[in-house]
Amino acid sequence: MEIHHCPICSTALGPVPRYPRYVCRDCAARAADQNRRKLLFSNVDMSGGYMAEYADSGEAYNSRVCYIDGIECRAGEARFGGIVIEAVDLPEKVKSVLLGVAVGDALGVPVEFMNRDDIRRNPVTDMRGYGTYNLPPGTYSDDSSLTFCLAEALADGYDLHAIARNFVKWKEENYWTARGMMFDIGIATAQAIGRLAAGAHPDEAGGTGEDSNGNGSLMRIAPLLFYIRGMPAERRFEITREVSSLTHGHIRSVVACHYYLEYARLLFNGAGLFEAYGTLQATVPELLETVSVDPVETALFSRLLRGNIHELPEDEIQSTGYVLHTLEASVWCLLTTGSYRDAVLKAVNLGFDTDTTGAVTGGLAGLYYGLDSIPAEWRHQLARHDDIENLAEHLAERLATA
Ligand SMILES: [Mg+2]
Repeated sequence: MEIHHCPICSTALGPVPRYPRYVCRDCAARAADQNRRKLLFSNVDMSGGYMAEYADSGEAYNSRVCYIDGIECRAGEARFGGIVIEAVDLPEKVKSVLLGVAVGDALGVPVEFMNRDDIRRNPVTDMRGYGTYNLPPGTYSDDSSLTFCLAEALADGYDLHAIARNFVKWKEENYWTARGMMFDIGIATAQAIGRLAAGAHPDEAGGTGEDSNGNGSLMRIAPLLFYIRGMPAERRFEITREVSSLTHGHIRSVVACHYYLEYARLLFNGAGLFEAYGTLQATVPELLETVSVDPVETALFSRLLRGNIHELPEDEIQSTGYVLHTLEASVWCLLTTGSYRDAVLKAVNLGFDTDTTGAVTGGLAGLYYGLDSIPAEWRHQLARHDDIENLAEHLAERLATA
């Protein structure tokens, strides 16, 4: 029988539990905030419900993030009562995002451009191959290639020129492609990378017209979470703007990327899916106002920022290549399903831009449900699975020592 050891003090605690990174009671008692102020976590009552407060003042602590001996942890309520504190496993988180994106992408590739009615007659239920591009199962597309290009560049620190160089290498030399050949590229992305290759400044390469709001920056933005997550909100927005603008410089694309990364950040910090959705309805509009985003643009996001998007029927959710459609569809899929598998299949089966809707949904779903929730047979069918895992480990290691 495998024995679980406390990830903080290494004490042997018994059989490997439901929460594989949980810390022992003695270590949990030392949980503190970033400034080493002691925290107390408890249940409200027997029915569950989570409470966090400062030990010295009883003042509420509005976060699940805590530190034990300097190690980053998350507190949350266990399903049958009690509070569990888990040490964050950064390599696992990075893998769950990169593989979450790539599996969602690969599920959608064979049915890209199919309309919803046609796909309904033969829905995707498993990793298929061939179809639209006649490529074998597990072939991911531009969404994942550019995601990996970004992740790899971030491992060496934040340098827009380095990210741009990777993008150019992808377009011109098939870098980070699934099978040595690029087969899918959006118009705005192709034009912007062409400008980057010709020497344009990274900040000025992306289209800025209102009609340049395809989902091409949203589809590759996920790994930026790991770089910006500890920064102040305005800085997170600014860096997101820069990275989106490599290919998509219009504020709508930037706001979509920002919303997505803020959602990811809350999930990373231990929030539930609906908890995060609700929190963003307060925090995102406030930040957009602070950074002077035109209220007309903010209003376009009102189905996310004001409404209950999960209550909308499927025929009100669109899944074209327009950035707002992709963002709405991915959040809708996430909030109306209960597993990674169901979320990405629902996304792909919306039809049209299936690979990108799958990839964007898959990044958040992978992060929230965890690496083990991504079906192993799908992960292992992915082209370059081991390269992707190595990339994730490399990024996590570099971020941990940065
Ligand atoms: Mg694609």
